[in-house]
Amino acid sequence: MLRALTLYDALLAALGPQGWWPAETAEEVVIGAVLTQAVSWRNVERAIATLREAGLLALAPLAARPPEAVAPLIRPAGYFNAKARKLRAVAEAVLALGGPPGLAAMPLAEARARLLTVYGVGPETADAILNYAAGHATFVADAYARRVLGRTGAVAATTYEGVRAEVVAAMPGELLGEFHALLVALGKDICRPRAPRCGACPVNALCSYSAQQEPL
Ligand code: SF4
Repeated sequence: MLRALTLYDALLAALGPQGWWPAETAEEVVIGAVLTQAVSWRNVERAIATLREAGLLALAPLAARPPEAVAPLIRPAGYFNAKARKLRAVAEAVLALGGPPGLAAMPLAEARARLLTVYGVGPETADAILNYAAGHATFVADAYARRVLGRTGAVAATTYEGVRAEVVAAMPGELLGEFHALLVALGKDICRPRAPRCGACPVNALCSYSAQQEPL
């Protein structure tokens, strides 16, 4: 079975550091983690810029603003009415937990359980906040990551929680954020859901899926 760390090394050598999460503050990461639900980051960037201009790219001002006032500002991020309500709920909840520093000081399991009770926070959002905003050793096992990890043979699990647990057990905690970013980069452009571009893939030689394909 391909080791996750071997895949990480090969991806990093081929694609370089991804600089993820692209944010100036930990609170910005929390906000971005909600905004990016179900849409590409390109759409989120426009919403982030608008929130920044409005002085709302921090949790306290966001928690104090009615969702109806925030919704038009985040329209480019899609699902803007629901996301405005989620932003308010997440901002209030994270502030009540002490902000990103409070989450960082809490045991991972407790912080994760608390976040998962908040309106608008599923496992992907919780793990993005906990890893990228609070520095916890958890992994965002989103669809990109599960696809690449499954095809290459670096994990046996297929569920979100199963893949997350396998990767966390196999990797040093400080590499988990970069690993996720590298998997997303490959999954977007090369290891696509249908018709993966295996001939152009930098980890082709390591990949179980590719090895099983008929030669052209
Ligand atoms: S070789 Fe193909 S299936 Fe394997 S990771 Fe690369 S693109 Fe995906």
